[in-house]
Amino acid sequence: FNALAQAGIRSLRAYDPGHDLVALRRQAAQPLLELGSNENPYGASRLAKQAIIAALDGAHVYPDPLGGDLKRALAATHGVAAANIVLGNGSHELLMQFAQVFAGAGDEVVAAQYGFAVYALAAQAAGAALRLAPALPNNHAMPRGHDLDALLAAITAQTKLVYLANPNNPTGTWYSQAAFAAFLAKVPPTVLVVVDEAYAEFVDAPDYASALLLLAQHPNLIVTRTFSKAYALAGLRVGFAIAHPDCIAVMERVRESFNVNALGLAAAEAALADNEHLAASVAGNRVQRDALAAALRQRGLTVAPSQTNFLLVALGEAASRIEAALVARGVILRPMGGYGLGECLRITVGTAQANARLLAALDEVMA
Ligand code: PMP
Repeated sequence: FNALAQAGIRSLRAYDPGHDLVALRRQAAQPLLELGSNENPYGASRLAKQAIIAALDGAHVYPDPLGGDLKRALAATHGVAAANIVLGNGSHELLMQFAQVFAGAGDEVVAAQYGFAVYALAAQAAGAALRLAPALPNNHAMPRGHDLDALLAAITAQTKLVYLANPNNPTGTWYSQAAFAAFLAKVPPTVLVVVDEAYAEFVDAPDYASALLLLAQHPNLIVTRTFSKAYALAGLRVGFAIAHPDCIAVMERVRESFNVNALGLAAAEAALADNEHLAASVAGNRVQRDALAAALRQRGLTVAPSQTNFLLVALGEAASRIEAALVARGVILRPMGGYGLGECLRITVGTAQANARLLAALDEVMA
């Protein structure tokens, strides 16, 4: 069957979740400490959970195919119109669809080395060629972060799409508002620039700003967001993109009619209204992120500066041995070999209690 698949699909590999968590959970003597997927350790908002329960009464009917209530709430939150928004079954779905819609055989897609893995998959699945721009060096203030000049230099007459993440996963790095504005001013208007802001809510760097501020001046700009991280709804799969209404209109043609389920729509709308829960998650993450980074550095480890809810930690040659030893102790981190960062592990910032358990396990395996 592989030979029957479209050219770009033949060399694709299925998503690698790292571990079979369901099997590990079943075998574990004590609850696993799951710090591998950048989820929100504080759980979903109580209001979102109530909305999910209420939405169960409508489980037998199709969800609103327009997602109207959620779009209107998002429009109000972000100061745009509902016509600027397309909803996705997670932002992952939309990131894949942008390539499917706007790039194909003979076209090029530009992304950054150490950028989020889905961009390369999206280009490949669409049959487009991927041009990977080198990242900033590892000794820079933003180790392995996006090099916006290198991304610009990778754009050719064949380029249809550029994918950036701000902040980026797995590096945790970010780029400044000023640097991005200068970058965008130099991108040809026919090249679409997708800025993935999955972790935007966690950022407190004073030089950062959402790309949404530049949307009015740049019709070629697309910003994606998700309810999976700060809004703590990863299991319900809700993401969205904000872009020019004409871009959104094209996306609306290709998305599956009921791509966001009824529980997800209800939960996302309630989570969006629960500012208190969002603020508590973001504040908790900030305190724990700084504390965990400091504790890891105290142990002599190199930790990249992060504006997200995870840390990229360098452990040298021992990384995969340490990772396996942690799994044996029920501690799940994300190995980074797939990114060409085999000496690193990515650690989701947990609660104070979770981070204490992580550090204790780490001390054991590194002793
Ligand atoms: N973008 C980035 C940078 C991510 O890290 C993730 C999730 N790991 C996503 C997008 C996709 O998130 P979702 O599909 O849950 O919205």
